[in-house]
Amino acid sequence: MPTIQLQALRRYGYYALMDKNLKSKTYTDLLELVAAYEQKPFAAQYLFSFIQQKNAGHINDITPLSKTFRQQLIDDGFVIASMELLEKHDDTDGTVKFVLGLCNGTRIESVRLKDDDRNTLCISTQAGCRMGCKFCATGQLQFERNLTAAEIVDQVYMAEQSCGKINNVVYMGMGEPLDNFDAVMRSVKILNHEHGRNIGIRHITISTCGLPEEIKKLALSTVQPRLAVSLHAPDDTIRAKIMRIGSKYLLSEIMASLKIYQNTTGKRITIEYCMIDSINDKIEHAKALVKLLRPLKVNVNLIELNSFPGCRFEPADSRQIQAFANVLSDAGIETVIRFKRGRSIKAACGQLGATWLTQK
Ligand code: SF4
Repeated sequence: MPTIQLQALRRYGYYALMDKNLKSKTYTDLLELVAAYEQKPFAAQYLFSFIQQKNAGHINDITPLSKTFRQQLIDDGFVIASMELLEKHDDTDGTVKFVLGLCNGTRIESVRLKDDDRNTLCISTQAGCRMGCKFCATGQLQFERNLTAAEIVDQVYMAEQSCGKINNVVYMGMGEPLDNFDAVMRSVKILNHEHGRNIGIRHITISTCGLPEEIKKLALSTVQPRLAVSLHAPDDTIRAKIMRIGSKYLLSEIMASLKIYQNTTGKRITIEYCMIDSINDKIEHAKALVKLLRPLKVNVNLIELNSFPGCRFEPADSRQIQAFANVLSDAGIETVIRFKRGRSIKAACGQLGATWLTQK
């Protein structure tokens, strides 16, 4: 861990440090901060662009700011803290997995996927997850904590050091993004800002397992990333069998919130559906899904289950997945079968944190 970060952690404690990390601040936050120090607004632009665009690692690297102001920030405990790259794993299919260390010793993972001109990073929002999906390795780990906005955006900056410019970000890694709503939305604002990485809002996707209240809150946000919803089941009985959260929120509640979201934003929603042998992969399930989705404008991604140590489910047969996809397509729903990527390095969908399950 960088010395400055360690010193600040010892001096201020973990939660205070989160607040003191300038990397977690949006452009608007920095405008307020510089005003409090009686500085002109352009100081906020220097702070933001040096941190979020030029990877400044220390306040003294922001040389256009006066020495006095820089020292004031340092004396008041502000830092620019980064994560540590612990491991990097490369799959032959071009997928790269990063294992990153947070300032309190916790580990998280993010995954780079390459398709022609699209350089996508799948990022994590929590260490562990409270949702307990039984087909997902992260769901079997103990929930440790929410990531800060700085820790979320830093995954992009760390990946760029070895993989080039990231131009597409999906919040589909470890954790439920809407369960860490504020930090996630701050990170979206930071990544999207013109003085930062300037990643187009249409190239940022938030994936949720379906938290109705937060979906409605997202509909009212000033920034509107794309939304993907992990349904994985056409009815509540099957959903509760494979997702702990399925017993808490009924599909009727989730669908009602998605209707509000779509009426407010006018945006198409992506539905994620993990194909599990003999659980949710039958033709009758596909027909029930068509009926469920009829009121919405959606496209569907079908994902073959990716196994992990202790997983009690098997992936659906590829012919079964194709037959399922045909039912959806015939009903006019745009459907894509997602190819398996990064399996050899345990970086595929549902596998993040899988290597730690055997180390417990
Ligand atoms: S699938 Fe997503 S929401 Fe479910 S346990 Fe895994 S990380 Fe959490």
